[in-house]
Amino acid sequence: MIFCAIMEPAVQVENLVKRFGTFTALDGVTFAVERGEVFGILGPNGAGKTTTLEIIESLQKPTEGRVSVLGLDLQSKAAEVKARIGVQLQASAYYDYLNLTEILALLGSFYPNKAAPATLLEQVGLSDKAVNRVAELSGGQKQRFAVAASLVNNPELVVLDEPTTGLDPQARRNLWSLIKEVNQRGVTVVLTTHAMDEAELLCSRLAIMDQGKLLAVDTPRNLINKLEASYAVKLTMDRPMTMAQLEALNGRVEVLQSGEQNDPAAEDQESNIAENTYLLRLANSPSALKSMLDEIAKTGLGLENLQITPVTLEDVFLELTGTELRD
Ligand code: ADP
Ligand code: MG
Repeated sequence: MIFCAIMEPAVQVENLVKRFGTFTALDGVTFAVERGEVFGILGPNGAGKTTTLEIIESLQKPTEGRVSVLGLDLQSKAAEVKARIGVQLQASAYYDYLNLTEILALLGSFYPNKAAPATLLEQVGLSDKAVNRVAELSGGQKQRFAVAASLVNNPELVVLDEPTTGLDPQARRNLWSLIKEVNQRGVTVVLTTHAMDEAELLCSRLAIMDQGKLLAVDTPRNLINKLEASYAVKLTMDRPMTMAQLEALNGRVEVLQSGEQNDPAAEDQESNIAENTYLLRLANSPSALKSMLDEIAKTGLGLENLQITPVTLEDVFLELTGTELRD
């Protein structure tokens, strides 16, 4: 039954509870990561992401619940699991007096199935830094090196905790390509992030986590499509619209800002919004968009600017948690 063993999920977590004293950091978390996925755990600081990863890595023990990794029960097979998964360490944890090649050779020496340092450095685009020290790398290079170090034992699964936090946009994009490449070579990836763009771009599925609970697990697309209102529409007209004209657009009006408005509170809040500008929420359907445009044409007013923004994961998060995903 080797075939069945191969089909086991990469990670299966059931009813995970983690308490620190009276504080509950994880409150009944259940999910499965399939082989070959890039699975993201998305949530704000303190959600329980790192605790979840550290339990998967056997660095922490759950208070309650079961975890199996690569089909192996963590309670009885932790050593075997550790040999077959890759864990990203903080760059600061590496010996400063060894160069990159030496660090990878040292880390590899702990494993029977190890990758050559030169191969790893090539895979992460750091061949030219082979004899440099970690302290001599940029932030992005350090994170790429951390990924190389996580691959030292040719793992089937790598676990990356906020691999791109603190990186500049270019370095983030480089790291995204690297993670995709690693995944395309057949390595399952579990990562945490609090960046929506990253989650949407990189992850085949996402677990949305807040305050120790999993709120949803699905593909980014499905999470977005499940929300009722799917377009944010921002209209700027050449003259104010009447209430009746606005209502005919069939959207849920969120903010009005017209030359005719004299609500000082609203003006204070939205003072950066141009005159005669209206923010609407529109139902997720092409016909709603078309009928809105038809209604605008009927008003005879000039349309100076129109912006349509599809629902983002940020909206999903807001809907699920009632708060924005911010540091
Ligand atoms: P995240 O990685 O999503 O930011 P963590 O898993 O690090 O969140 O932490 C989840 C919660 O558990 C936080 O409120 C954190 O303060 C708490 N926590 C984590 N580790 C410990 C610990 N060793 N002792 C007490 N509380 C902890
Ligand atoms: Mg964390």
